[in-house]
Amino acid sequence: MALASQVPFVIIGIGKSGLAAKKFLLAAGLSPNDIITFDEKNSDAQLKSWDDLKTLSIGTLVVSPGVPLNSNAINQLKNQGWHITSEINLACSAFTDEIVIGVTGSVGKSTVTSLIGEAVRVDDPKAFVGGNLGTPVCEYALQILQKKHKAQYVVIELSSYQLENSDQLRLDFSAITFLSSNHLERYPSADAYYKTKCNIGKMTKNLCVLNASSVDLMKYQNEIYSPKISVNYHTSEKKSVLQKSQLIGEHNLDNVAVAFELTQQLKLSEKAIQALLNFSGLPHRLESVGVFDSCLFINDSKATAMDSVLVATQAALSKVSAGGNLHLLLGGKDKNLPWEELQVLVQHSNIKFTFFGQCGSIAQSKSRLAGTIFSKMTEALSSVLSQVKSGDVVLLSPGGTSLDEFKNFEERGNVFKELVLSYYSVK
Ligand code: ADP
Repeated sequence: MALASQVPFVIIGIGKSGLAAKKFLLAAGLSPNDIITFDEKNSDAQLKSWDDLKTLSIGTLVVSPGVPLNSNAINQLKNQGWHITSEINLACSAFTDEIVIGVTGSVGKSTVTSLIGEAVRVDDPKAFVGGNLGTPVCEYALQILQKKHKAQYVVIELSSYQLENSDQLRLDFSAITFLSSNHLERYPSADAYYKTKCNIGKMTKNLCVLNASSVDLMKYQNEIYSPKISVNYHTSEKKSVLQKSQLIGEHNLDNVAVAFELTQQLKLSEKAIQALLNFSGLPHRLESVGVFDSCLFINDSKATAMDSVLVATQAALSKVSAGGNLHLLLGGKDKNLPWEELQVLVQHSNIKFTFFGQCGSIAQSKSRLAGTIFSKMTEALSSVLSQVKSGDVVLLSPGGTSLDEFKNFEERGNVFKELVLSYYSVK
């Protein structure tokens, strides 16, 4: 449908993707008067209250992933006849013959997207890699409209919120990395959440690659209605190749196995595969901060699901020297997380738990793990720093989100790194 027949466009939520959608609509030739910004929390938006929308003629809502599609306000507007779309739907209206690859999952999305990104960029320096990770897809679509740039490969990380509102997106290949009961604050059940993830199959033409190590994903694979293949490190015939990856932890070898399978399907070059193996990881995901006084510090601030905490803990335990301890920092802001899943860690007598933040005491009582509780991450880290000894490992893999104390997980990870570095520089 021509964009001009769908005006006015109201951009609901003016974060990065909303602003990119606005630029795209302007470049597509719409009048600035036909593009209206709405945000309840951002004073830069033209409209700030849902009631303001009542004064407009009925058109299209470009809903950002941060705004629940099933909220009362959106439902009411939908019933009045408003058409609902998203930044990703707008962007893919500009695609032509790109090979499009979509990556979703509860955890592992950014890692797998980046691994594939490293590889495709070797064979196609103009490849676009973005979506939920980094650059909004509309930024790429804008380049197409302006005839500046055209990629052979487009790799898009997709959150479940984006999948809910991307019915125009057609994927040639896709991947589901690992499913765990995260984000339950916006879904009535894990079942509803998992089925949303599985919907990526309906968008996929050729093949969806699944991580066979995800027990929940394997349980839901019949909900994926596209050709599919399940792979992981353990069952791979290419273990000797996958082992050459620079990433830490067995879970990352599964991520490499998924990305490697896609490079095979895409028939990428040997050089591209080498680039995938050379990828040394993203900041704040099992990031090594360094070894100080023979103690290793790891920043995994991004971990906001119990599975992520458990896999990071396993990876960190493998780095603890004989007689050493693993100091695990847990907490942040709660989102109804199943902290009790961490009880299994009680079997490791060399793990010392330290809890912090808004959910410090909830995490401690639900997990039933003994440990001291601090109100702030910074205080928890200071306490750990005063106790560590040679051979220990300190891991920030908090489980909770960062929003009680920080702007985002990047800021939390950066504060962790700065505190560690400054402690050892003055010591
Ligand atoms: P996402 O983008 O989906 O949030 P990331 O790739 O950024 O995921 O990884 C975030 C964290 O999730 C990692 O630090 C790690 O703790 C965990 N994780 C990543 N991949 C896996 C996997 N395959 N299985 C289990 N946990 C994983």
